[in-house]
Amino acid sequence: MTRVVDLTQPLGPDTPGWPGDGPFTATVQWTIAADGAYGRRIELSEHRGTHFDAPAHFAEGGATVEAIAADRLVVPARVIDIAERCAADPDALLTAADIDAHEAAHGPLAPGSALLARTGWDRHLGDPARYVGDLRFPGFGTDAAARAVERGLLGLGIDTLSVDRGIDDAYPVHLTTLPAGLWHLEGLVGLDALPPTGATLVVGVPRVVDASGFTARVLALLPG
Ligand SMILES: [Zn+2]
Repeated sequence: MTRVVDLTQPLGPDTPGWPGDGPFTATVQWTIAADGAYGRRIELSEHRGTHFDAPAHFAEGGATVEAIAADRLVVPARVIDIAERCAADPDALLTAADIDAHEAAHGPLAPGSALLARTGWDRHLGDPARYVGDLRFPGFGTDAAARAVERGLLGLGIDTLSVDRGIDDAYPVHLTTLPAGLWHLEGLVGLDALPPTGATLVVGVPRVVDASGFTARVLALLPG
């Protein structure tokens, strides 16, 4: 028996996005009444809502989305919860010291797995001004990103707009992990439903050619 947890935001015109990444627009092309079928054409940033970052997002010559092998998209997940700290401080970081404490309790991060940061920031999704917060939201520390690379992880994920905290506008985490071939999941929701260890992540990202990233359906499988 397996339980499935959806870690994905609904995606539409009201989904908060990075400032300046343009609107989500949907244009109806066919209606059942007029055409016998319903279909739309959609325009959006590759980084809107719950989405995947491919290495090419920050690394010249890095892999684009269609080139990521399927077995790198179904991976064991570790979850570190720093929500309490983030509630008190929007600039809080998940640090290497947090990884030390997690590893002491649950064993070393295994190569081929992913590390997810639960900040609790998804509770602000109903208030986009707070969720985006003039780019004041928590993230990973550069020391934690370096540790993820050292451990041979395949990816990082977080429940904010970016794995880099909002005030880190030089993107030190992106510049540590993406050139090393890791991927990111950003804009996740519901990480409080996951245990620190034991979940399997399924990253359903369409194989869009030459994409720097793309909106994704992200599921976690838990032992029933
Ligand atoms: Zn992104």
